Amino acid sequence: MQTTGKEDIVDLTRRVEEAVAETGLSDGIALVSAMHTTAGVAIIENEAGLLEDFRAFWRRIAPQDIAYQHNRFDNNGHAHVRSTLLGQSVAVPVSRESGLELGTWQSIVLCEFDPVPRTRQIVVKVIGE
Ligand code: ZN
Repeated sequence: MQTTGKEDIVDLTRRVEEAVAETGLSDGIALVSAMHTTAGVAIIENEAGLLEDFRAFWRRIAPQDIAYQHNRFDNNGHAHVRSTLLGQSVAVPVSRESGLELGTWQSIVLCEFDPVPRTRQIVVKVIGE
């Protein structure tokens, strides 16, 4: 998964649906996990205004332009803090009837917190039958 860097939010829902369908899972849970400490995974309504609100929230709660000890050797302390607060995985129920049991307005998204483009690995692990 390629991100554009600064505050990119990538909708993963379709790709997760495809990955889960390939497993043949009919009753269980899908865990969607980003293997990174400067990105996060969330469930959110994929509406442009809300996504901008979400970005603004992160700027307020963990601004990029304040002092971070981590910035002594890397320039992304804010990205690590944001990633840790959001979390790097979500678990979604799966059923035969519905596939991913997401509400009408729920989308699974990857949130890029690093200021530069990154290649991100997302693991989808299923348990159940
Ligand atoms: Zn770092």
